[in-house]
Amino acid sequence: MGTGTIRQLLILGVAMVTCLFGRAYAQSTINTEYIDGVEYVRLADICRTYNLRPKASQNGMHTYGGSHRVSLIPARQDFYVNNYRYVLSYPIKSYGGELMISSTDVSKLVDPVLRPRFSKNASTLRTVVIDPGHGGHDAGAVSPYAREKDCNLAVALKLRRLLRERGYKVVMTRDTDVFLTLQQRVQIANSCPDSIFVSIHHNSGRRAAEGIETFTLAPHGTTSPFARTRRTADLAGNDQDSENIALATAVHSRAIKNTKAVDRGIQRARFSVLCTIKRPAILFEGGFVSNPTEGGLISSSKYQDTLALSICNGIEAYGATVCKRAPGRKAGKNSRVVVKGTGSKTRTSISGAQMSRGGISSRSSAKQQKGNKRG
Ligand SMILES: [Zn+2]
Repeated sequence: MGTGTIRQLLILGVAMVTCLFGRAYAQSTINTEYIDGVEYVRLADICRTYNLRPKASQNGMHTYGGSHRVSLIPARQDFYVNNYRYVLSYPIKSYGGELMISSTDVSKLVDPVLRPRFSKNASTLRTVVIDPGHGGHDAGAVSPYAREKDCNLAVALKLRRLLRERGYKVVMTRDTDVFLTLQQRVQIANSCPDSIFVSIHHNSGRRAAEGIETFTLAPHGTTSPFARTRRTADLAGNDQDSENIALATAVHSRAIKNTKAVDRGIQRARFSVLCTIKRPAILFEGGFVSNPTEGGLISSSKYQDTLALSICNGIEAYGATVCKRAPGRKAGKNSRVVVKGTGSKTRTSISGAQMSRGGISSRSSAKQQKGNKRG
């Protein structure tokens, strides 16, 4: 990068820094740099703020310990918190001998994930809008092992039963095999006050493609590989950026832990149902119907039970951490957004054995991106 593309900016205004990243920076002076037009922060400052200490640096992956286990790779967008995978909006950069992370990723991902907390924006969580993807003439992904619209509905109905047992009001965008437009699904969600929106899908791709991934809306100003358009402007869903990533974390981490599926990560997208929704929203992809093993699992009632319970526990944890407490509802034992490591052998992206073979994370993410067709 040339000097023409980089301009250094020293921000001394404490108020501005506080506005960007929250109260943790109030006592700090943070230097930011613009690299290729994107504002970046020194990783050392982030580590100091979140009590992270360098732990290991091996085969290009840097790991930090302390309050959480965090791993990252310079020049890549992979970011792991306690072994769960996130995809950053911008790659980690090296600049002046320091690793840098974008300001957007700090405020929209790092902070709400490392310090999930009560959100002033979040209303009381009373209602969950469950959206089983596709339906009617739109079967979604189809394979010899499963048909997506059926699996989406099966998981959704099991989730409805679990949520009702825990006292939530549940609104289904569909509870039979009917077709709805994406706009109809969004209208249903936006008409429900004090709600969150959980869209349930399953994937298809190459036979070998497998794993679970969860999508939230891309932050304002960023591009997404899963955008329907190149627009980067603010969207209605961006009002809930912190709630979106907290909900995704709570649901995704439990699904990976309970199923032992491959962790394809929490990713950013501008899918239609995420763009114009005015409630915290995620799109959950419970696995690949095109994979012989996973497709068989997805069509089994037992696996669907596991997915439904994981989503339910995630929703409850999200509500207990981020939202105002609904009257009469007490926090259950699963009720906290805590991103704990699982030690699962299926999520080997940062295990020592994998790293010694030359950085599995690069190879696995390339495979993940290539194998994915939106289902
Ligand atoms: Zn789908």
